[in-house]
Amino acid sequence: MSSSSNNSKKRFELDHERLATTDQDGNRIYIHPEERSGRWSGRRVKFFYFLLSIYLILPWIYIDQRQIVLLDIARREFHLFGHIFYGHDAPLILFILVALGFFFAFVTSVGGRVWCGWGCPQTVFMDVIYRPIEIMVEGSARERRELDCAPWGAEKLYKRGLKWLLFLISTLHIVHSFLGYFVGTRALLKMSLGSPADNLTTFLFVLGGTAILLFDFGWFREQFCIIACPYGRMQSVLMDDHSLIVGYDHTRGEPRRSSEVITPQEGDCINCYLCVKVCPTGIDIRRGTQMECIACTICIDACDGIMEKVKRPMGLIRYTSECELRGESSRYLGIRSIIYLLGILVGISLFVASLSYKSELGISMIRGSKSPYQTITISARQQEIVNHYILAFRNPDQGEIIVQISQEGDGSKIQMTTLDNPMSIGPGVTRIPLFLRFRPQLLTDGSHLITIIFSLTRKGEQTPYSIMKREVTLVGPL
Ligand code: SF4
Ligand code: SF4
Repeated sequence: MSSSSNNSKKRFELDHERLATTDQDGNRIYIHPEERSGRWSGRRVKFFYFLLSIYLILPWIYIDQRQIVLLDIARREFHLFGHIFYGHDAPLILFILVALGFFFAFVTSVGGRVWCGWGCPQTVFMDVIYRPIEIMVEGSARERRELDCAPWGAEKLYKRGLKWLLFLISTLHIVHSFLGYFVGTRALLKMSLGSPADNLTTFLFVLGGTAILLFDFGWFREQFCIIACPYGRMQSVLMDDHSLIVGYDHTRGEPRRSSEVITPQEGDCINCYLCVKVCPTGIDIRRGTQMECIACTICIDACDGIMEKVKRPMGLIRYTSECELRGESSRYLGIRSIIYLLGILVGISLFVASLSYKSELGISMIRGSKSPYQTITISARQQEIVNHYILAFRNPDQGEIIVQISQEGDGSKIQMTTLDNPMSIGPGVTRIPLFLRFRPQLLTDGSHLITIIFSLTRKGEQTPYSIMKREVTLVGPL
């Protein structure tokens, strides 16, 4: 074996005592993983493009002039595939979050870090946007390492400048698409054409978001997975020996070969270090399952390529489990996974049950002025009292609802004034003032309880489909 080959391999012989991405002084070792294609990489890239398309296209889909996914935090209105949720629907969102939390726990307990390798935005954006840009501008892993060490000159300035410019354009696109989910894509288009000063908060959000993403994808990279991601820290608690991992078959691979000449006494690993060279977190999978492994499967493809060359069966590194690697049978669903599954079902059931309850028209009566009542002088001997309310209607339906307001019992003593009666209530939240006017003699000890009736009829129908009642305490001077 040549000395340059030995030196190259030595560089990938990792220290047992420290992270693969730090040197003996604790400084960051910047990783340039080698590119490798294979069956798993091909599947991942296709899946990543699918996810990226959803992310970019979804906020541009409108049905009946409504964005199908819009999380309007300022107005506390959340549009999700035809359903509208409001701020006071927080319990519903909680049920979704509970189901989502259990879903992640379930996926991890069964599929290990499959989320990290296949669905996490950190991986998806890195592998389909930033890494390809870097390879296109700066070349292969070896060329990128050489560029890192090269003194600053015209070529380095040009390559670094072009790379960061392309990073910036891509990041701006990612951040604007993200913002489209919160302010609406049409509103965002208008804002983008106007002056930043007109929408300063949004503009600052774009600037801040772009700076954070550029820092993360341009420089921080695998460090986010290794030291910052909370899910990465939790995965060892959620996984067990039956969970799916990307693992090295120690029994088959060891003792690893010291040369590329195959002898019967040696294992299948030819110690080529390719699995280390391609790893985006810089680890050596042959040392067993490690927290830094994001299950990206690239080492599987790299090793399969080597096995093909040395005419040994593929799968020395493969999707497996700790049990299977020890030669024990591996079960798919354990007690822990079943509990997580039940948690998902409970969360979804509560959400669906609340959804059917929520589909009714919501009516709230809120006092409309700071003072609970006003006194009006009609004549020298007669005064009347006015109570002002705001009727807040929350219509989760997509159609209009006709609302007729009346009083229970004898309504002749109280004059009700509102904009229209009956009134047409469209989808979303509608607020309408209501004035209740009466003589002071109606009050007993300064108050009087009445019941307001709301008859709800769908547009185009004659008969009310629902009658709702709200009790109101009229107040005046004692
Ligand atoms: S790629 Fe395969 S053969 Fe090469 S060092 Fe890794 S495990 Fe061994
Ligand atoms: S060890 Fe393999 S699967 Fe894990 S991060 Fe490295 S290359 Fe990806």
